[in-house]
Amino acid sequence: MAKPRALVTGGAGFLGSHLCDALLGEGYTVAAVDNLLTGRRANIEHLRKDPRFELIERDINEPFDCGHVDYVFHFACPASPVDYMTHGIPTLKTGSFGTFQALEIARRYNAKYLVSSTSECYGDPLEHPQKETYWGNVNPIGPRSVYDEAKRFTEAVTMAYRRYHNVDTRIVRIFNTYGPRMQINDGRVVPNFMKQAICGEDLTVYGEGSQTRSFCYVSDEIDGFLRLSRSTEFMPVNIGNPTEFTILECAKAVLKVAGSKSAIRYEPLPTDDPKQRRPDITKARQLLGWEPKIGLEEGLRLSLDYFKNEALQEKA
Ligand code: UDP
Repeated sequence: MAKPRALVTGGAGFLGSHLCDALLGEGYTVAAVDNLLTGRRANIEHLRKDPRFELIERDINEPFDCGHVDYVFHFACPASPVDYMTHGIPTLKTGSFGTFQALEIARRYNAKYLVSSTSECYGDPLEHPQKETYWGNVNPIGPRSVYDEAKRFTEAVTMAYRRYHNVDTRIVRIFNTYGPRMQINDGRVVPNFMKQAICGEDLTVYGEGSQTRSFCYVSDEIDGFLRLSRSTEFMPVNIGNPTEFTILECAKAVLKVAGSKSAIRYEPLPTDDPKQRRPDITKARQLLGWEPKIGLEEGLRLSLDYFKNEALQEKA
């Protein structure tokens, strides 16, 4: 029997490339489409000679036909605050035009569809922890809105294709995820702190560091995606680690794991920076039997060599 074929938009990105690996492990052949705006060839270099994998280098926002696919995983989009604020218009286009393109492909081939959404849909949340039923507290015109509103629109288009065109859709709301293949310069808190700790620079804590995030190691996150891809749940599902840390606690964990003596330097808090973030994962637990296994310190340990290597390469 022919192997099922998956299309992964954003397949050369941090999460997209890990997803490609996991899908190949599940027996799929994989076509990754990526315009390499924030994705990187290095993330998929190990798959270059694998006949079950191909990279289609193009922009998902333009119409194209990748041939028959059984599953569309729509993961294209700049995702770090620095990246999406640098590429604000492409971010809005990927959430809108790109989502239409990905859904049209799913519709054309009667393929299943799973889209990456985000905890940013909850904005600076007034409900804590965040359940999928919470509609969020998003500033529609602030600097983060290019991402937050793009992803909220992505969810709206996805639900519309389900309602009007019967596309078999799923929506995952991803909370802060970290691990190997993150770009060391993407500005997110874990790469920033890891690089600073490794290089003996001050760790830049924004604000007083009392804002919270809940960090999920990448292998746990991908396991959640696969479980959701096999389920029939079409309403959004939170996938993230529910253990909450202040950013200052995160900085201390990085210093410990890296064995670093770097100091902490306080810098201004970015506009609309959410004060707290923690997923309620009751739904994922009950529906998918999913539970993250790797705590923050263990995940940072698992990532340390990768970040050391990236820091070395950057210096070279
Ligand atoms: N942050 C920080 N120092 C950094 C980078 C980020 O204190 O060098 C903070 C940031 O203000 C936010 C949190 O860490 O409160 C997580 O930021 P990140 O950019 O990783 O993702 P976000 O959850 O905001 O999308």
